[in-house]
Amino acid sequence: MILIPEAPEVESMVRVLSEDLKPPFVLTLLSYDPAIMQKIPPHISSSGSLGVVRRISRLSKFIVLKTQDYVVTLHPAFTGVLLPSFWDKYPDGHRVKFERTALSGCDHSTLYWHDRRRFSKVWIQSRRDYDEDPYWKSFGPDVLSEVIDASFASRVKEKIGSSKRTIRDLLLDQHVISGIGNIYVAEILYESRIHPDSKMLDITSDQFLTLLETAHKIMNSSLDVGGTSVWTYLNSRLEKGQYQKNLKVFKQSKCPLGHEVVREKKGSRGSYYCPTCQKKGGTND
Ligand SMILES: [Zn+2]
Repeated sequence: MILIPEAPEVESMVRVLSEDLKPPFVLTLLSYDPAIMQKIPPHISSSGSLGVVRRISRLSKFIVLKTQDYVVTLHPAFTGVLLPSFWDKYPDGHRVKFERTALSGCDHSTLYWHDRRRFSKVWIQSRRDYDEDPYWKSFGPDVLSEVIDASFASRVKEKIGSSKRTIRDLLLDQHVISGIGNIYVAEILYESRIHPDSKMLDITSDQFLTLLETAHKIMNSSLDVGGTSVWTYLNSRLEKGQYQKNLKVFKQSKCPLGHEVVREKKGSRGSYYCPTCQKKGGTND
């Protein structure tokens, strides 16, 4: 799964959408691009009413629109954005088109799921299929929104499996802990002074709890300023987040203490850290 935008950006999207769309409203599917559609019940075609959306919510890095009978799940992946027609300034992209009809009046507006780069995904499932889908059930505890305490830490630890995995790998695994991607993992590990290649074995329970508290604090600080826009992220008002001004190692050449930041390629992505501030811990390395 593509790891951006991360939980603070998706939560920002959800909050802006909730303010602008003011649920409840009737949601109708008008048309869709099969290229980004993951699942759609066979009997739902264009102009199929999906029912009343009472709340817009977030699961991990997904936007979730639930009605009594259906669940629409949207994963933005770089350039996907749910755009009400009154903000429609985007060039043509790949689209899924919904119509919102407010229950209290005649407020029709079109909601476009725009995705210029076509990495996004959209699911429409019956409520039952969604509730029983093992994929949606598999996400780890949510570090942005949940209370971080010893019970949260033990729920995360239960999902870790082998403690020989690196801490960076674990924090990025959405099935261990939900919401962190490439930007925040670098910032969280820097703030915690933990080397990204440290193994879970090297980290004490107290250090692990502090690390989770740091993750929660950093991600909420980002949410307070609308998330991080280092590449393409825009909310549904086409506004950028502001947290990129606070980044300490991600895409930085020096850490705040003036040391050189290292970028190591890990898979298709870069891992940023300060080798001076973030030493490998324990005796296993
Ligand atoms: Zn440093």
